[in-house]
Formats: sequence, structure tokens, C-alpha cells
Amino acid sequence: MSDMEDRLLWIHGDYVAPETGRFFETLNPATGEAICRVAEAGQADVDKAVVSAQKGQAVWRAMSGAERGRVLVKTAQLLREHCDALARLESLDGGKPLAETPEADVGSAADCLEYFGGQAASLQGEYQAVPGGFFYTRPEPLGVCVGIGAWNYPIQIAAWKSAPALAAGNAMIFKPAELTPLSALKLAELYKQAGLPDGVFNVVQGMADTGKMLTAHSGVAKVSLTGEVGTGKAVMRAAADSLKSVTLELGGKSPLIVFEDADLDNAVGAAMLGNFYTQGQICTNSTRVFVHQSIRDAFIEKLVARTQKLRLGDPLDPDTDLGPMVSADHMAGVLEYIEIGKKEGGSVLVGGGRAKVPGFENGNFVEPTIFDGLNDKMTIVREEIFGPVLSLLDFSSEEEVLERANNTEFGLAGGVFTRDIQRGHRVADRLDAGIVWINQYNLTPVEMPFGGFKQSGIGKENSRRAFEHYTRMKTVYVAEGDVEAPY
Ligand code: NDP
Repeated sequence: MSDMEDRLLWIHGDYVAPETGRFFETLNPATGEAICRVAEAGQADVDKAVVSAQKGQAVWRAMSGAERGRVLVKTAQLLREHCDALARLESLDGGKPLAETPEADVGSAADCLEYFGGQAASLQGEYQAVPGGFFYTRPEPLGVCVGIGAWNYPIQIAAWKSAPALAAGNAMIFKPAELTPLSALKLAELYKQAGLPDGVFNVVQGMADTGKMLTAHSGVAKVSLTGEVGTGKAVMRAAADSLKSVTLELGGKSPLIVFEDADLDNAVGAAMLGNFYTQGQICTNSTRVFVHQSIRDAFIEKLVARTQKLRLGDPLDPDTDLGPMVSADHMAGVLEYIEIGKKEGGSVLVGGGRAKVPGFENGNFVEPTIFDGLNDKMTIVREEIFGPVLSLLDFSSEEEVLERANNTEFGLAGGVFTRDIQRGHRVADRLDAGIVWINQYNLTPVEMPFGGFKQSGIGKENSRRAFEHYTRMKTVYVAEGDVEAPY
């Protein structure tokens, strides 16, 4: 165990010990060693967090949008000031390379807070004259919202959920994934330092049970989850009992389609980013790479050569490209998929197993792996693996590839590489996916709506669209004449 002290719950602007008296360990995935102990919230803690959030929200919603916005923008500034330490913490807890975390995690969280800080004063309703008078609409906060995070982008997810919720005048109780519970607490500290009233952002760590308690709670108006499809369904079922609204950001098995006229170097770079960034643990990843038959050999040659150069290692070394999988269990699951891929007849072009990293013998490292010789029915082509495993497929016509790309229960994202502008837009139109990139992959600026179709989710994060999921619209009719009662 490192010398980092126990992490308590964050309720009403301060650290509090859990009523459960229970703690769990969070591990460093590069070494398997415990980083520190983390409090586990039970029902009494969740109840306390809800009461605190109700009190905080009453203060917060009475403030003007501009005042709320200033707190969010100040928090973004603090995030940037503490970027190095936060990025190291994220790399330590989640195994993400330090080459990524300052920008993709801390920077993206700060971008989001700045964006919604700027938007907070702009929420407005509509006016319309109607027979007998007029009506206006009021976008109102929902009340206490719950955010439940996955472990792959811990601080980013905490910001993507809390920034629009808070900008709109809600309070949020956030439950980070049990595997990466540390950075949301730092965000809470910075919110407080920036002037956020107590109770407006509470953090309750714990397991799935803590998530269930939050989802079922009668004092909670809304749940926003990032997680697996199965968890999304469980959350939606639980939320149905009290008709809470839900935003669900779930899994995917997204296609990247590379046509014969594509810029090959860009397409190869995108395929690598879409499979190996964050060790492949990204929901929107392009895990099915469809390459036109006529350029298959050239594409593979470049892809293999560049993938072989990737450096696995200590996530805290700035030269590392890939760190470890988030946990030993998750690594075992990814390795099992690789074995299934081999058994079902796939051929491994690169990688294909656990990686040994000198000095990190207990780390959860998996080699970046490229499979060829696949067909659409194989398990690894159908199921989300959430690791550095790229499935290569080829195609001969646009019609054929679109049919195959859409033949999945998921619908999170997709990409197309072509120099033909009409084809690019045509394919974007036909892809059954919530996000499509043309000649790019996995860029998610905060200005752009983010969210999936089909079993990949419900609702959008980021952009002004996020406000629709954190407000309720009240309609107010105002009479300009008398009441004409016939009795
Ligand atoms: P999980 O679904 O296992 O967990 C997500 C969160 O939900 C965790 O905090 C978890 O707690 C909690 N939880 C689990 N069960 C319940 C329940 N019944 N009720 C309430 N909360 C519950 O996902 P992972 O953390 O394993 O993350 C990986 C998944 O997330 C992948 O499928 C990935 O595609 C998806 N994802 C989607 C994104 C998107 O935006 N579309 C982005 C990133 C990831 P605990 O950690 O304690 O189990």
C-alpha cells in the first residue's frame, strides 16, 4: 500500500466517514499494488448525500446563471492549474498513459466546465401569442441528479455529467466506478475552492449496490450513467419504478470504413487511435475496420508496421503509448476474447497475448492485437471487447459494407475515410450510429453532441443539447381577457 491516506466520502462540501464503516482498496493497474483505501457508501450515506444535495440545490438554483457560470469557469481554471497532479493521479489509478491524461482527461474536463460555464446564463424559454393571451416556457432544473461513471475516463465523465447539470441549476451526486474512485474527489475539492455551495456536488464511492441505491432513491430526479449495455438496462428498469428520466452512454462495436480513395496514412492513424488509445478501453472505438479489397494489402502493411512500434509500459513514463488494462479481471476478459478469436479461426497479425513489461511483472498489460481472416459472425467481431484488439474485415462495395456495418445491436459511432465528398456524406447518412466522423476518428469536442443509437444509449452529452436532459420545460399560459365560462 502506498502512503496515500484513506479517501472518505465527499458530502456537503467536506470529507465524511462512511456510516457503513466499510472501505475498499483501489489498485494501481501497472503494479497490482493498493494505492489507498476508499470509503464505501451504504444506504444511510446515500440518504445523507441526497438531503445535502436538496439543500445545496435550493441555494444554487436561486443564483443567477451568470453566477453559476463563474463557478464552473473558475473550476476549469483550477483544473488546468492542477493539471499535472491530476493527470498523474488519473494515470496511477486507471493505468492510462501520461501521454494522454493531461489533455484527454483533465483538459477535456476543463473544456467542458468552461463551455457550460459560458452557457449557464443563456438558458431561456420561448414566448408565443395564442388565442386569448400568450404562453411562455421556462427551462427549470430537475432537482437532484445522479451521475454514475465508468472507469475509462473518470474525471472527464464526472465533468461531462456535472457541468451541464450544474449549469442548469441542478445538484449532482456522483458515483465513480469502483476501479477509479480518486479523481472525482479532487474535482469536488476544486468545485468547492471555486465557490460552489455545499451539497451541490457530492461524491459517494462504492460498488454497484451504491449505484442501485442512488437510482432507486425517491429524492433523485434523474440518473445519467456511463457504462455497459447490461448496466444501462438495469438502471433504466430501476428508474422506471419512479419514472426518473435517464441518460445512458453505453457500449459499442463501431465500424470504420476505409474506401479505395482514402488517404491511407490518415486512415491507418485513425484505425490505431480508434483501437489502441487508452489501451482500447473507449466506448466509441472503431473495433471493426472495414478496408476496401483493392487497398487491403497496402493498408495492412502500414498498419502492422506502425502498430509494431507502439511502446507498452509504465503509464507514468511520458514515452509510453499503452499502459495496462484497468484491472486483472478486465485483462482476463480481454485475453479470453483473444483466445476465442484464435479458436474461431482468426489469424493474429500483431500481438495476441499478455505483454511482459520489465519491472511491472504484476501489471495487467495486453499487447496491441490485430486480427485478420475474420467474418462477421465471429464472436470478436460482434461483441464489445473493450481492449486493444482490432478486427480487420474487407469489402468490395459501398452497399455491402453499409449493410454489414449496421448489422449490430449497437449504434454508438462510425467513421468513413474517402476523398469523395458525396460518398462521405452518403455513408454518414446511412450509418446507423449516433456519431459519425468523416476522415477523422474519436475526436469529441465539447461543442458536439455525443451519444449513441440503438443499444448504445439514450440521450446526448455535451453541446447545448445536454441541457434538454437536465431541465424540464414548464409552460405558462397568461390570459389577456376574461374567462368566458358557459355556466
Ligand atoms: P459498468 O456498466 O460495469 O459500470 C458503470 C458504472 O455503473 C460503475 O460505476 C458501476 O459500479 C455502476 N453500476 C454497476 N451496476 C449498477 C447498477 N445495477 N445500478 C447502478 N449502477 C451500477 O461499466 P464499466 O465501468 O465496466 O465501463 C465500461 C463500459 O462503459 C463499456 O461497455 C463501455 O463501452 C461503456 N462506456 C460508454 C461510454 C459512452 O459514452 N457511450 C464511454 C465510456 C464507457 P462499479 O464500478 O462499482 O461496478
